[in-house]
Amino acid sequence: MSGNKDHWYPAYVGLGSNLQGPARQLEKAFSLLTAIPETRLISKSSLYHSAPFGGVEQPDYVNAVASLLTCLTAQGLLRELQRIENERGRERNDVRWGPRVLDLDLLVYANHKIDEPDLSVPHPGIGERNFVLLPLREIASGLDIPGLGQIAKLDVSLTQPEISRIE
Ligand code: ADP
Ligand code: MG
Repeated sequence: MSGNKDHWYPAYVGLGSNLQGPARQLEKAFSLLTAIPETRLISKSSLYHSAPFGGVEQPDYVNAVASLLTCLTAQGLLRELQRIENERGRERNDVRWGPRVLDLDLLVYANHKIDEPDLSVPHPGIGERNFVLLPLREIASGLDIPGLGQIAKLDVSLTQPEISRIE
């Protein structure tokens, strides 16, 4: 779905993987983000290693965040992200927070607040998950997140799980 082609919206995407070579999966995902129509990849965070979140026994994750400029609507961008997840062999199953080859979440879309059945923006986990907050802060230290405020002021000590920067 295309939005207004004269207007480029800043958007932030969270990437995560804990199967089939997670770091390699994220590098591949970054390159697939560059191929989304009417969209530019602006910057990428470092990769971060994090312990699984949510109590399901599974391998550790590698996470990162990408910043984009896009003419797509938030819904249009979500569809592109889901297409990439599917292309990379993501299997949808019933396990919430279960293992996955690739997870792409739309974290922030300009200053929009969206509350639809299939799309919540800003992503509700941002303030609680350090594997989102730290890479997002790395590439967007001045970001003002609708409903949460300045990213620099969010308290990382309230977030989980254990995390370390890889590169
Ligand atoms: P999670 O990322 O929470 O582990 P999934 O990746 O399996 O879960 O996504 C489940 C659903 O979350 C998707 O079908 C999608 O429609 C919905 N969703 C709601 N808001 C967002 C968002 N901001 N980014 C990505 N998916 C979202
Ligand atoms: Mg997801």
